[in-house]
Amino acid sequence: MSGPRIGVLALQGDVREHLAALNEAGAEPVSVRRREELDAVEALLIPGGESTAISHLLRELELADPLRARLADGMPAYGSCAGMILLASDIIDAGVQGRAAIPLSGIDMTVRRNAFGRQVNSFEGAVDFDGLDEPVHAVFIRAPWVERIGPGVRVLAEAAGHPVAVRQGRVLATSFHPEVTGDRRIHRLFVDIVRDCA
Ligand code: GLN
Repeated sequence: MSGPRIGVLALQGDVREHLAALNEAGAEPVSVRRREELDAVEALLIPGGESTAISHLLRELELADPLRARLADGMPAYGSCAGMILLASDIIDAGVQGRAAIPLSGIDMTVRRNAFGRQVNSFEGAVDFDGLDEPVHAVFIRAPWVERIGPGVRVLAEAAGHPVAVRQGRVLATSFHPEVTGDRRIHRLFVDIVRDCA
């Protein structure tokens, strides 16, 4: 049985790590940089990196509107860190006007960008994750947190008193970076969500 064809938005950030992690989790991952590539995938993973840089490229490549339309149409998605920011419906501290991070509205939530502070404040630790028996070793790098969730949104994990993993239907987001650890449980959860939709 071949795995679901899942795209990794490959504009900036830790693309390679997510391609490898999805592969290990049983999917058939492909890079997405162009409109035709987006049209050809069943689901999309938006990696961590810098949300303003990714947004700038989304504008340049005219991918923001098609991506928002696919999300509105029910495409499964997973965003990690910068990807969580982009999947939000509202972003606090989104960046300077014209260069700000774009809210693609995959999840009805307000996210605060760089909530945990700057790079020096990056940290890691064990976080309980709803549905997983053992905690996840979560790595936070200039991470966002969630400040508001809409009625259909489930909180899967919290840190520092804020949600850091959430799910609304087919869309999943984490503030932390599972791709930098060997643990593939979050990627497998996403692959299962995609399989269930097929
Ligand atoms: N602070 C970054 C941003 O605003 C996110 C950091 C990350 O993805 N590791 O996009």
